[in-house]
Amino acid sequence: MITSNRLKNLHPYVPGEQPKDRDYIKLNANENPYPPCPQVQQAVIDFVQNHPEKMGLYPDPDSNELHAAIADLLNKTGGVLCRARVTTPAEVATPANEATPAASATPLVTPAPEDVIPFTVTPDMIYSGNGSDEVLSFVFYAFFDSSAKFVMPQYTYSFYPVYAGFYNIPMDTIPLKNDWSLDTKAMLEHARTNKGGIIFANPNAPTGLGLKRDQVRKMLEEASPDEIFIVDEAYVDFGGESCIPLLADFKNLVIVRTFSKSLCGAGQRLGYIVSSPELVNVVTTVKNSVNHFPIDAIAQVSGKAACLNPAYYAECARKVVNEREDFYNFLLSHGFYVLKSETNFLFAKKEGIAGDELYRKIKAEGLLIRHFNTKGIEDFVRITIGTKEQMDLLKKAFEKVLNDC
Ligand SMILES: *Cc1c(COP(=O)(O)O)cnc(C)c1O
Repeated sequence: MITSNRLKNLHPYVPGEQPKDRDYIKLNANENPYPPCPQVQQAVIDFVQNHPEKMGLYPDPDSNELHAAIADLLNKTGGVLCRARVTTPAEVATPANEATPAASATPLVTPAPEDVIPFTVTPDMIYSGNGSDEVLSFVFYAFFDSSAKFVMPQYTYSFYPVYAGFYNIPMDTIPLKNDWSLDTKAMLEHARTNKGGIIFANPNAPTGLGLKRDQVRKMLEEASPDEIFIVDEAYVDFGGESCIPLLADFKNLVIVRTFSKSLCGAGQRLGYIVSSPELVNVVTTVKNSVNHFPIDAIAQVSGKAACLNPAYYAECARKVVNEREDFYNFLLSHGFYVLKSETNFLFAKKEGIAGDELYRKIKAEGLLIRHFNTKGIEDFVRITIGTKEQMDLLKKAFEKVLNDC
């Protein structure tokens, strides 16, 4: 036997498929349909062309500039891009006769009133890693223990149980309520009894439903301050409520976020946590026990450039939200049951057509959507929101498929 016994217990995550047989329109992995902003492209070009010597050197081990830029982004947007206010300097009163400001003037970005963070997020509250998947892995290692069961919703990000298996951490799942929302009461009760901590995505996946900040605050007030409380905000920029303001009052709260969805950066592999400097240090200790260098130098440079241009990403998020609302209405008018989404995807089902059948027929039309073989949600498909052009093609495909059956 050349493999370890541990290997038998591994059940790796299965990502959305990436077939090579033809050029599908990919609406199955919740990626952003828009490219990163021009400044990100420029930053990468500049790095490679003008600083090739840095390719031969280790990157900044503390990712200082990136963490400062992430903190700045959160302070400017309140952690919810689609609602952030963008004012171009041209709109700011300009004295008569003065030449109109150059088109390149940086727009001013401020949080929507409801998203204002009542303190300043500082760089020492940020830890970043190779996608939030890696960040989550270190968070699991740091805060969940083999001696106590943690709790999560029955249907949520399917990577959580994979990590639980990998680290041999016991867990329980709590069924969602009839309306597919989280059963916060049952989750809290479990946490109080087992003292193993809580994790959920907010907004949740694959449902797309979110809890209000006040609902999470109530949970934190009732949970023990000695147990870890993890909120995964991968999708919050598309219309959820960020829990970052709650960090002022709760020292057991860890918020996980990613560049992969709202920052058009799934290929960059950048994720981060926002938490107290103490808990950031704890995660750093785990990280430095595995691979002590941080994300690579190009990801640091391109991630920083993304954070410094929130106006572009706010616009992308708004476009995605508009298309989402439009496709939501399309599905309703075609007899689907659809959950009201606060994310960049829709979770829907239609009587008479199973999730995998719909998925297969749409695939034959050249578009990929996602379905799940998981018991209880087999009837659903999860549709990532793309550009207007992509969604128009998807509508045509849906109409054809529905007419045929
Ligand atoms: C996409 C996603 C992630 C992973 O993001 P990466 O940063 O690309 O690893 C984490 N959590 C949830 C809920 C997600 O949907």
